[in-house]
Amino acid sequence: MVLRKTATQIALMRRAGAVVAEMHEACTRAAVPGATTADLDRAARDVLDRRNARSNFLGYHGFPAVACVSPNEVIVHGIPGPRVLEAGDIVSIDCGAIIEGWHADAAITVPVGEVDAESQRLMDVTRAALESAIAATFAGNRLGDIGAAAEREVASAGFGVVREYVGHGIGTAMHEEPEVPNYGPPGRGLRLRAGIVLAIEPMVTAGRSATRTLDDGWTVVTADGSRAAHFEHTVAITDDGPTVLTLP
Ligand code: MG
Ligand code: MG
Repeated sequence: MVLRKTATQIALMRRAGAVVAEMHEACTRAAVPGATTADLDRAARDVLDRRNARSNFLGYHGFPAVACVSPNEVIVHGIPGPRVLEAGDIVSIDCGAIIEGWHADAAITVPVGEVDAESQRLMDVTRAALESAIAATFAGNRLGDIGAAAEREVASAGFGVVREYVGHGIGTAMHEEPEVPNYGPPGRGLRLRAGIVLAIEPMVTAGRSATRTLDDGWTVVTADGSRAAHFEHTVAITDDGPTVLTLP
């Protein structure tokens, strides 16, 4: 069942979302050549502590950190650790926060130092796919319109949309119904209504979109070793259209 949220509940999710945006800012500042992926997790954790927010990532099915930190060929679910970021890398940071029981979840991909034009284009197209998907997230539209908008953006750029991992409803749990694919035909699926809150999160690969999970059981990489980018926002549908909750 897809639960609709009240304005008060959405306001709490917006507070959690502001914490997530601040975590992203801290991680972006920390993503310099020579930093480890663990350094980015520490930066995110400091923000949670400062804002008295809880993490919805730490302990999730045993996940050991507050942020997924996913460089280059890692698409999602990278475990922060000793891997050193180098100039020219790109790195995705996916994290969330809980305020008074209400969740927010968002992801960004940022450059480490100067990156090549193709990596920049990959990030730009993924961000544009998220923006197009959000623009399709309004009452009266259907769930399929969101994924179709994202896929259209990615396909026209010649990149691949990851199909094994999708967005989701969000509220008092990080992952609620419905699933929100980043692909598929428009005009199908759940009718969107005010009060529905979705985490929309296209994952885009520079090469083929096939994925592989490493032996740690978490780290999802591109099967062909190509780079991937990931942008996500938590978005509430209001009577006035979509509103992004994970902004500063
Ligand atoms: Mg996320
Ligand atoms: Mg998510």
